[in-house]
Amino acid sequence: MSSNISFEQLGLSTDLLRAISEQGYTNPTPIQQQAIPIILKGFDVMGGAQTGTGKTAGFTLPMLQKLESHANSSTSPAKHPTRALILVPTRELAMQVYESVRTYGKYVALKSAVIYGGVNIDVQIAAIRSGIEILVATPGRLLDHLQQKNLILSKIEILILDEADRMLDMGFLPDIKQIIQMLPDQRQNLMFSATFSEEIKKLAGKILKNPILIEVAKQNSVSDLISHIVYYVESKGKQEFLIDMIKKKNLQQVLIFTRTKQGADHLAQKLNSRDILSSVIHGDRNQLQRTQALDNFKCGLIRILVATDVAARGLDIEELTHVINFELPNNPEDYVHRIGRTGRAGAKGFAISFVSREEAVLLGDIEKLLGIKIQVEESNLGLKNQQTEFPNKTKIIEEQKKSRAFSFKNESLSKRSKRIEKMEDPLFSQPYISKHSDLISIQVGIDKSKKQIIHKQYPSKTLPALFIPPVTSKQK
Ligand code: AMP
Repeated sequence: MSSNISFEQLGLSTDLLRAISEQGYTNPTPIQQQAIPIILKGFDVMGGAQTGTGKTAGFTLPMLQKLESHANSSTSPAKHPTRALILVPTRELAMQVYESVRTYGKYVALKSAVIYGGVNIDVQIAAIRSGIEILVATPGRLLDHLQQKNLILSKIEILILDEADRMLDMGFLPDIKQIIQMLPDQRQNLMFSATFSEEIKKLAGKILKNPILIEVAKQNSVSDLISHIVYYVESKGKQEFLIDMIKKKNLQQVLIFTRTKQGADHLAQKLNSRDILSSVIHGDRNQLQRTQALDNFKCGLIRILVATDVAARGLDIEELTHVINFELPNNPEDYVHRIGRTGRAGAKGFAISFVSREEAVLLGDIEKLLGIKIQVEESNLGLKNQQTEFPNKTKIIEEQKKSRAFSFKNESLSKRSKRIEKMEDPLFSQPYISKHSDLISIQVGIDKSKKQIIHKQYPSKTLPALFIPPVTSKQK
């Protein structure tokens, strides 16, 4: 994904070049090659790029360079007005983008902060009030701060909407509109989206001024580095099939997607009971649990991370080789995002899908969206290959399309946004309150000898996520 063009040739400052070289990047990726010079020149940009292409650095580096003239080490908040706003859909993405801002801006005296819902707001207020030039935020929590007048956005010079399609999917459009009204008219706008729906084009038309279109991947396309594989498996056989596959293929780091939070919990429990260390990441997990699960997964303490679609976007896990769709997503575009967690930064990846009889129509939708026919693998894992039980996939698809049981394609927009609202992660805008019990279970360590995750129970209802006692690695 890199080329012979150097970062120096893109006109980046020495402070930024130093930070880039510390990251070990030798050459800019295609999106960086295209986006950086255009953004430096001050144009608005509509970027079509999937995650894993290096798009974060593609907008963060030129943003930092454009703001570099304001860099100062004064302790006065007045000397650090908010000049760049990066809106992202999820807290995980917010944290990742914020990390990138800090990494690439290591040698630039600009202050930055990240705000998202589900955590205590006071700590964020303190950070904002100390003065910050760059703010990474999820829309719901940013609006809370704006309504409380914790910050003003009248000095914004650059607005960046990252994963704009996801923000719309999650029902953030009204919030985004409100936020934009509080920005000065004179500003540079950058919008990135992995997919280009009509809604995205409409939003772009409202926000961007004479944008330059940058596209590094075909619309709705996925990385060539990813091999797509389908196994036909009946729903009730999926768990055993998965366990067999993990053991026989000795898979060490796998991100698995389920359709529901309950399904994710259930699967992780099952895997743990069979000595395959697993954790879950979904909307009912508080921020600490989610961060911890991701960290443990990234550093290899756990082999399996079971996630729902809310976790699908923006996760950046180095060298993730396998994504397994334990269940296919209802929305084919989510397939693109799920499997975008692998095949990143030039590495090869496998996107494996377990497809039951009921899901055949969803597979058809995915193949149509990607314009490819996904390879069906014979099972050599000791389980009976289920493919023979699907003699007439076309017929199933036809029947299901008629009943509309599994496809939402003909759904009206209002109905769709209502459905998506229901799927929205409550933690973006709400404080964490467990729906399930008065106690939440936090992972506090790993007992390697017993291959067990050690959990501790904390009361949940009275405690916002941020005040959960610090996690220790020692067993209590
Ligand atoms: P992104 O698409 O922004 O999520 O980036 C995906 C991954 O690519 C991240 O792990 C980055 O650290 C990495 N990356 C970004 N730019 C480069 C580059 N020029 N060379 C190598 N890796 C990069």
